[in-house]
Amino acid sequence: MSGILISEVGPRDGLQSVQSIMSLEAKKAWIAAEAAAGVTEIEVGSFVPAKLLPQLADTAEVVAFARTLPNLTVAVLVPNLKGAEAAVAAGAHKITLPLSVSETHSLKNVRRTHAQMLEETRGIVALLRSLPPESRPKFEGGLSTAFGCTLEGVVPQSKVVELAEALMSAGCDEVGLSDTTGYANPRQVRELVRAVRAAVGEHALSGLHLHNTRGLGLANVMAGLEEGITTFDSSLGGLGGCPFAPGASGNIVTEDLVFMLEAMGLRTGIDLPKLLAVRDILRQAVPSESLYGFTPDAGLPLGFVAASAA
Ligand code: ZN
Repeated sequence: MSGILISEVGPRDGLQSVQSIMSLEAKKAWIAAEAAAGVTEIEVGSFVPAKLLPQLADTAEVVAFARTLPNLTVAVLVPNLKGAEAAVAAGAHKITLPLSVSETHSLKNVRRTHAQMLEETRGIVALLRSLPPESRPKFEGGLSTAFGCTLEGVVPQSKVVELAEALMSAGCDEVGLSDTTGYANPRQVRELVRAVRAAVGEHALSGLHLHNTRGLGLANVMAGLEEGITTFDSSLGGLGGCPFAPGASGNIVTEDLVFMLEAMGLRTGIDLPKLLAVRDILRQAVPSESLYGFTPDAGLPLGFVAASAA
């Protein structure tokens, strides 16, 4: 098996969920240090109106900086076509448009129905296709609340499959599945990955965005790995926590994820001691925020040899 891609989402997902506003300098230091530790994809921000998320108001500057780092895919989130235009202008390599499978969640979050979001998707595809291929960002449709919704409860698998097909027909390069609410269990991950891949093709689904709200984050990663998923989103220190479950990280913790994969002989290309040291930047930049993770507290096992170092 070849390597596993870890997509660090802390500078976007983590920072958007905390009260603290991290300075541009600290964001640059964080991103540069993770890239130097071997992380090759980082979601550095989101192009949303600054009045909604002041934490991410400097995303264009963060993208400009991140683009100067070698071997780094600079990813961003966009809520609509306007955001995609800003992402293209800034030079992002990859853009993700989240589409909530729960329409109630979609209406509450972005005040748009599924039909309206798919219209937005087609607008973004038209924009991207007008660009020369070499400067065209990769475009992912991120299916959020794919494993359940705090407003609607159970999200039917058939609805996830239907929207995955709709996103691919609209022209997305790939789709991803997000356990936005931390409802997923390993069996569900296995079944949903199979169902979506059966509908859109194996290569159209390579990534999972998993949370650890109920402690099943890494178990869900294992289920994804067994189905051949090769990209996992995670957040350094689990920054942001989980609003529904105090004491639990929201996103799975990058340090624990890298430890598990490397210990299992799966290469991430990430240097774990260097990655662990990046936490110091967060601790200094946003001292009032909690950091999560078991590996950072326990340390690496005696005699541990990372797959990437072997
Ligand atoms: Zn998340």
